[in-house]
Amino acid sequence: MNPEQFRDAGHQLIDWIADYRKQIESMPVRAQVKPGEVRRQLPVEPPQQSHDFDQLLADLQSIVVPGVTQVQHPMHYGWFPSNASLASVLGDVASTGLGTLGISWESCPALTEVESVVCDWMRQLTGLSEQWQGTIHDTASTACLTALLVARENASRYSQNRGGLQAEAMPLVVYSTAEAHSSITKSALLAGFGADNLRFIDMAPETRSMSPVALRNTIAADIENGKRPAAIVASVGSTGVTAIDPVAEIVEIANEFGVWLHIDAAMAGSAMLLPECRHLWEGVEDADSICWNPHKWMGTILDCSLFYVKDPELLIRAMSTNPSYLQSTVDDEVVQYRDWGIPLGRRFRALKLWFHLRLDGVEEIQQRLRRDLDNAQWFAEQVRNTEYWQVVAPVNLQTVCIRHQPPDLEGEALDQHTLQWVNSINQSGKAFMSASQLDGRWMVRVSIGVESTTRGHVEALWHLIKKTVAG
Ligand SMILES: *Cc1c(COP(=O)(O)O)cnc(C)c1O
Repeated sequence: MNPEQFRDAGHQLIDWIADYRKQIESMPVRAQVKPGEVRRQLPVEPPQQSHDFDQLLADLQSIVVPGVTQVQHPMHYGWFPSNASLASVLGDVASTGLGTLGISWESCPALTEVESVVCDWMRQLTGLSEQWQGTIHDTASTACLTALLVARENASRYSQNRGGLQAEAMPLVVYSTAEAHSSITKSALLAGFGADNLRFIDMAPETRSMSPVALRNTIAADIENGKRPAAIVASVGSTGVTAIDPVAEIVEIANEFGVWLHIDAAMAGSAMLLPECRHLWEGVEDADSICWNPHKWMGTILDCSLFYVKDPELLIRAMSTNPSYLQSTVDDEVVQYRDWGIPLGRRFRALKLWFHLRLDGVEEIQQRLRRDLDNAQWFAEQVRNTEYWQVVAPVNLQTVCIRHQPPDLEGEALDQHTLQWVNSINQSGKAFMSASQLDGRWMVRVSIGVESTTRGHVEALWHLIKKTVAG
């Protein structure tokens, strides 16, 4: 494809995307395809000859779109908001079109320096002090793994340069809660701590936030038993019920015992764009690393996960590689982001944040987040004020966890009832919510915050839920 052919096809594709986004509300929210249905429509053999672009676009429409769960649909209330603002889509296109290679400062100075600047803008926008320096990872899972690798090397005094964890006399321990995201367990296992050395600290029953007393006792007991506490992962906004661990109290314990504290605010970090929400992570300044995803609620298209540390030297010490072919004459003056994380080759992700902030503007993004917080409070009020309905967890942000509990239903029968009404709505394609377990019983998470979700959509959802339950 030459640039002129690209120009023609590219214009068509942008038109197609704009039409698609305009029509999204007329599509079912959850993909209605059966397993294997998309695959069966594709040829087994790869194409040998070139196809024309119209044909490809037609297949994109007729084969791919039906196989997409429309998370940009205003009636999508599942999992978490996974917004892909069109401003950030343009930034992603620009990034792809530039075709850059991010393996060193020299391979694309602009990639490194725009990234430094937008990470610093985001730092300021979330009220963090100048002591934090950021980089962009693909996902919060990668950021958490990176944090735990650094914590491991820090606590073991760089065991990687000796026999690694396999030669350590004292097992290293990681602390989190059962409410934390599954990526925390995955990271702890991948970083070699072992399931036996991952502690799920007790939580306050109502809020499901980590108990500082239990944390301190567990750490003290581990030390007494010859183990070495290495890392605490605190959740600011857990996936299940948006639980907020008490960062200010946890930070004191982390400092007292010299343990790395990683803050996982993947979903709730967006709320820190609002000064009135920052009390939720009070104490964060004394943590060691922070991660959150602009690619969730804020709406910079996936993948865009911010990772901040105070001392990049610790990252570099654990992760630096410096082969001769990557060395250059300016190495003393520049940042090499390859040494701040796992991959060597990095995408120019900063562009989508840059486009998003410049084209939408921070004030518009903040207004939208406030709208969503309001909508969540409104929705929770309706639920609370309706007979036999309950809000089953505190509404800290934009997620409302609900259950319909008629007087004659409990236990298994209640579970069946919950799953029946939520599945019936999800299957209809009219709206989508996630069922999730809380203390072993099913409930439904209504996660509000798609860019196009207005109060009218939330009202329509409540109407639909009541109608479905009434049968
Ligand atoms: C979504 C989420 C993650 C994982 O995010 P990825 O970027 O998909 O890896 C981790 N923690 C929390 C609290 C989340 O909400």
